[in-house]
Amino acid sequence: MTDPRRRLPAVDALLAEPDVAALLTAQPRGLVVRAVRDTIEHARANGGAAPPEGWGAAVRARVQRLAAPSLLPVINATGVVLHTNLGRAPLARSAREAMSRIAAGYSNLEYDLALGTRGSRHALCRDLLIELTGAGDALVVNNAAGALLVALSALARDGEAVVSRGELVEIGGAFRIPDIMARSGATLVEVGTTNRTHLRDYEGAVTDRTRLLLKVHRSNFQVTGFTAEVSAPEIAAVAHARGAASLYDLGSGLLVDLSPWGLAGEPTVAEALASGVDAVAFSGDKLLGGPQAGILLGTRDAIAACRNDPLARAVRSDKFTLAALEATLTLYRDPERARAEIPVLRMLTEDVAEIRRRGEALQKGVGKEAEVIEGESEVGGGSFPGAKLRTWLVRLNPHHLAPDTLAGRLRGAAPPIVARIADDRVVLDPRTILPDELETVARAVRAALDD
Ligand SMILES: *Cc1c(COP(=O)(O)O)cnc(C)c1O
Repeated sequence: MTDPRRRLPAVDALLAEPDVAALLTAQPRGLVVRAVRDTIEHARANGGAAPPEGWGAAVRARVQRLAAPSLLPVINATGVVLHTNLGRAPLARSAREAMSRIAAGYSNLEYDLALGTRGSRHALCRDLLIELTGAGDALVVNNAAGALLVALSALARDGEAVVSRGELVEIGGAFRIPDIMARSGATLVEVGTTNRTHLRDYEGAVTDRTRLLLKVHRSNFQVTGFTAEVSAPEIAAVAHARGAASLYDLGSGLLVDLSPWGLAGEPTVAEALASGVDAVAFSGDKLLGGPQAGILLGTRDAIAACRNDPLARAVRSDKFTLAALEATLTLYRDPERARAEIPVLRMLTEDVAEIRRRGEALQKGVGKEAEVIEGESEVGGGSFPGAKLRTWLVRLNPHHLAPDTLAGRLRGAAPPIVARIADDRVVLDPRTILPDELETVARAVRAALDD
């Protein structure tokens, strides 16, 4: 018997088939050739059998897949507001508009329009951050991990940095405080134990080699039971008394107090600054609700040292970020407006009766295989660990479909819908489904159930 793999068509022969040749009128030749090669390879890997749909159809489907962008908008029905895998914070309208305005042409990114000379991108969000927070100075970089790296390098390089063993955290994405410390050129000095660290531990660790005391907010986990930690004001006081700098890694940049909506325990940026530390670092795309960015606020000396550190150039932010961040920060001049227009804040503070109303609308759109039940949403993004937000979920109860299959079909929808599976059922949380997506979700769920 001959090996069926020997009967696979040649690339040129397949390109000449009318079905495939027709693709070349609308698609670049290189793309079609790649699709042809991939299709033949796929058949070879399957023992040499021709594709069941036929060669022409298989090549066409592959061309379509290759031509589509790989980064896609998806609908977040998980109820996790700051979902790192789904791109964290959706942007406010004004931030999106600012980005596309700047993307379309040239801008004064590093140009002083009054003087007609070179300017600095660092001037762009600086005044607004100072105005909103009262900080002495501000610096925006690529993300909070970068902000931390720059600050450690500027404030502790070639010296020692003291951290509690209870705060040597891993943030996710293989980002660990000890590793970033090593790369910054500072030597880590650990104090205390996993569960308890006292003021005297810091005091005992300070030597003439100490350059920095670091406080890290435990943003993505909680320690309970027999615990003790030293507050930021106490750490700042020890540092000042001993001539060292102090740095507070806040993680999330909470600019407004969310305790009236039941979200307490996460320090606000104002509280962190009031602790008296020389600098605080936080993310732009967590609770602040803006683009991916790292923000450093603090005294003029500390921030100037960060700005002049060579690493600041390596992690500088781009013009789209600065445009979107400025527009987002502008909304904070009116906290009510910020809460209404910044999607993250709107979702976190949305009235549960309104979520229920949207859940009922979604249930009606899907039909009798859906029901509305009580449940919980999550803040996510390493913020407010353990906090649960009351919500109403739409639970899908298909008779004939396993939950994994249904969830898989929803992920295959256009746009993809990412749902949650709880108690062996697919559930959709209207909290994180954007208002104009509700119809689309209802239609996609009906199609997935009927398939
Ligand atoms: C999330 C987080 C970071 C990293 O922030 P990115 O903006 O993702 O780089 C650093 N420290 C803490 C405490 C965090 O929670």
